[in-house]
Amino acid sequence: MADRLRIAVLGAGPGGYPAAFLAAERGMDVTLIDTRPEPGGICLYEGCIPSKALLHAAAVITEAREAEAIGLTFGAPALDLDRLRAWKDGVVRGLTGGLGQIARARKVRYVQGRGRFIDTHTLRVAHDGELTEVQFDAAIVATGSSASIPPPLRLDSPRVWDAAAALALPEVPATLLVVGGGYIGLEMATVYAALGSRVTVVEATGGLLPGADRDLVEVLAKRVATTVERIHLHMTVQALAETDDGGIRATLAGSSGTEEARFDRVLIATGRRPNSADLGLDATRVSLTPRGFVEVDVQRRTAEPSIYAVGDVAGEPMLAHKATHEARVAVEAIAGEPSVWEPSAIPAVIYTDPEVAWCGLTEAEAQAHGLDIEVARFPWSASGRAATAADRNGLTKWIAQAGSGRLLGAGIVGRGAGELIGEATLAVEMGARLEDIRLTVHAHPSRSETLMEAAEAFFGTSPHYLGRRR
Ligand code: NAD
Repeated sequence: MADRLRIAVLGAGPGGYPAAFLAAERGMDVTLIDTRPEPGGICLYEGCIPSKALLHAAAVITEAREAEAIGLTFGAPALDLDRLRAWKDGVVRGLTGGLGQIARARKVRYVQGRGRFIDTHTLRVAHDGELTEVQFDAAIVATGSSASIPPPLRLDSPRVWDAAAALALPEVPATLLVVGGGYIGLEMATVYAALGSRVTVVEATGGLLPGADRDLVEVLAKRVATTVERIHLHMTVQALAETDDGGIRATLAGSSGTEEARFDRVLIATGRRPNSADLGLDATRVSLTPRGFVEVDVQRRTAEPSIYAVGDVAGEPMLAHKATHEARVAVEAIAGEPSVWEPSAIPAVIYTDPEVAWCGLTEAEAQAHGLDIEVARFPWSASGRAATAADRNGLTKWIAQAGSGRLLGAGIVGRGAGELIGEATLAVEMGARLEDIRLTVHAHPSRSETLMEAAEAFFGTSPHYLGRRR
């Protein structure tokens, strides 16, 4: 046993648990440390999984309501909030419990508690007044991120929610203010609007989802404008205060001045910050960026040779699947392999109605890099599959290198975009060209066909769309 590498993994989210399982599979002696009783992290307990469960419920409600347009009229949904919450919690319990079983089957030692580095080879874990010391040859920090709430909005009130509080589904407020028109704000606006809240979204910048492709956002924004009550752009929330009637008074500041409005509940979704404080990193040589991310090299190794970092704590994009891929790189590096972090395309999916997904470079990023690009587009108004699903809101686009047609990125907005982006990610990662996509037979009618049709349209040969080569 003594010659087995001892690995400590701090944090059991989608960076930490895959790292622990991979290391154990390679015969390493692994300890996985987390404050929660089972592995899963924010993603399973308070993020990706419960939000997608609630978004499924929202989609069922919305589809049933909109089926009226095709001659199917259902009654208004009777919402049993306790059962919906119990179902969602059951999904989370099932998945986290499953991870616990896998940990035990792989002989990963799971230590519940809050871990801190004591030195470069020791972690001390505190739980319920008990301390456990974990010695390691290599440690992987995978402590994730937390909601970053601007100081003026830090009101200690159960009427002000972060994402975790909104996902707990305590109630369906009559009015909900969502501060931040990013990933979390828009996903939660989609859920609560479908459940019956009148939602107002306030976004500081000039558009929803800053950073995402504007062609994609335009399609989403048009739809969101019909499902939420109001969207305020170029506006911030300056202050929040409880009102005597059980709500919250918000002071909103925009280009035309300041106004006050009352809401039953407020969700703050203004971004996340890395969980790098209070880890005892000052007992090591690990260095942080000015924003608090742990600095890592291409193998995810920190400035302290025995310590690696993966996931949200190690930098953007803060996405579960990026963490999982980094975990593989870190474990392989610890095993002495020449593994490096070099993906060409990381998919991003926002599970709104419709979904927005992209991978690789966006058109704006390619232009900012000074790249000579060409863009292929296919609007879903020309898709037979979209027409038969009575939902033609969508767009598929490719960003390709001019001349060679080599794919640099893709963007999709529309129902199921989050599934379709997989093919695009593979194409970009494999160095495919527009011509390859055009010559790949796609099922008809399907939404995946829009990827081929965009390439066809680029060459002027789409049978369903008159798009021309630009
Ligand atoms: P975000 O960065 O996506 O969006 C925050 C938004 O709030 C931005 O649009 C920003 O301009 C705005 N904002 C900031 N301060 C503001 C203020 N004072 N008033 C009004 N608007 C303000 O952050 P998020 O939505 O909190 O999500 C955090 C991270 O979590 C995301 O970056 C993403 O990586 C991850 N996430 C991913 C998914 C997914 O993959 N589907 C879902 C949820 C969260």
